Amino acid sequence: MMLNCAQPLPLLRHTDVPPRVIENFILTGYRFPNYSLRDCLLSAFRPTNETGNFWTHFLPVFVFAYYFVEVFGWEGAPRSDAPFFYPLWNYFIGVFCLLMASSMAHLLNSMSLVVREVCFFVDYGTISAYTVGSSLAYYYYIHPRAGIVETDPEPDPDPDGDPAGAPGSSGAVPEFSAFFDTFYIPCTCVVAIICVLSCCNTRQRWRKHRYMIRTLVFLLPFFVSSMPVFYRLLTRSPYSGSPSSLSSSASMPGFFYRHCLWLLVSAAFNISKLPERLAPGRFDIWGHSHQWFHCCTFLSILDELHMIKAEVRAILLSPALLPPAAAAAARLPGPTAASTYGVMLLLQTTIVSIIMYFSWCASRIYGPQGAQLEAELRRRRALKGR
Ligand SMILES: [Zn+2]
Repeated sequence: MMLNCAQPLPLLRHTDVPPRVIENFILTGYRFPNYSLRDCLLSAFRPTNETGNFWTHFLPVFVFAYYFVEVFGWEGAPRSDAPFFYPLWNYFIGVFCLLMASSMAHLLNSMSLVVREVCFFVDYGTISAYTVGSSLAYYYYIHPRAGIVETDPEPDPDPDGDPAGAPGSSGAVPEFSAFFDTFYIPCTCVVAIICVLSCCNTRQRWRKHRYMIRTLVFLLPFFVSSMPVFYRLLTRSPYSGSPSSLSSSASMPGFFYRHCLWLLVSAAFNISKLPERLAPGRFDIWGHSHQWFHCCTFLSILDELHMIKAEVRAILLSPALLPPAAAAAARLPGPTAASTYGVMLLLQTTIVSIIMYFSWCASRIYGPQGAQLEAELRRRRALKGR
C-alpha cells in the first residue's frame, strides 16, 4: 500500500535510528525522526511499524461513536443536551480524546524527538482524562443510589438484608454512601493526576521497567473508578421494583466482566511484548504486541460503553428515577454542568500544566539533538536522490 506520489522516505533498521526511538524486538520499519507533518500524515498509508498502531485506535473512534449515539434514540430519553446526559457526554469526550490522542501520537511522533515525547505525554494525559470521564458516568448511572425508588412495592422481608431496596433508603449503607458522595470523584481525579505524573516520568527515568510501571499505574484508577460497579455487584439490584429496569440492568455484570477480561489481556500484551519477543523482526509491521494492546483496550472500552448504556436504559425505564423526580425521591443529586464539565475542565487544565512541564524538560534534553538529526536526514535524502 505504498504511495508513489509522495516519494516516501526510506524506512530504517533499528541500528540506524537513535536509541530513544527503538522498540524492543522491532528490527525494521522505523521512520527516521524529523519527518515533516506531511510525511507523517502520508505514513498512515505506508507499511511502517507505526501504521498498525495508528489505525487500531483511529478506526475505533467511528465504531464507538456509532454505538454511543444509539442512546439518544431510546424511548423516554431526554434531549441529547439535557443535564441527564452530561456525564455520558463527558465519558464520550474522555474516550474520543483517548483514541484520537493515541492514534495521532503514533502518527506524528516522527516529527522530532521532542515532538515524540510530547505526543506520548498527551497520550498518557488523555488516558487519565478518560478514567475520570468513566468515573463521572459510573457516579451518575451506576452510583449505589442511582435507581432507588422512594416507595418499594415489595419491602425487603429480611430485616437483616441489604437495605438497598428499603423504602426511602438512600440505597447504600451509610459509610459507603458518604464515601461515594464526598470522596469518589475527587479520588479518581487525584489518582488520574498521579498516573500522568508517573507515566511522564517513565519517559525520562525508570526506563528499564517502563512498561511494567505504566501498566500497574493504570490498574490503580481501574480499581478506584470501578468501586460503584463492585458495590453494585455485591449488593441487591436497586431496580428490584421495576421489572423492565431490572432486566436491562441484569446485563451489566456480564459487560463488566468482559471489560475486565479485555483489560487483563491488553496488560498481558503490553508487558510481555508477545509475539515479537518470540520472533524478533517477524512482526515489525503487522501483528506486534502494541497493536493487540490497542485492539484489546478498545474492546474493553466498548464493553464498558455497553455496561453504562444498560444502566442508563434501566434508569430511563423508570421515570421516577430521572432527575428531578429522583432528586426529590431519593436525594439523588442530578448532574450539573459544574459537577461534570467543570470537573473535567479542571482536571484537563491540571494535566495540560503537567504535560507542559514535562515537554519543557524534554525540549531541554532532546532539543540540542535536533540539528544533528536534521543534518543526518539531509544526508540520507541526498543519498536517496543519487
Ligand atoms: Zn499506543
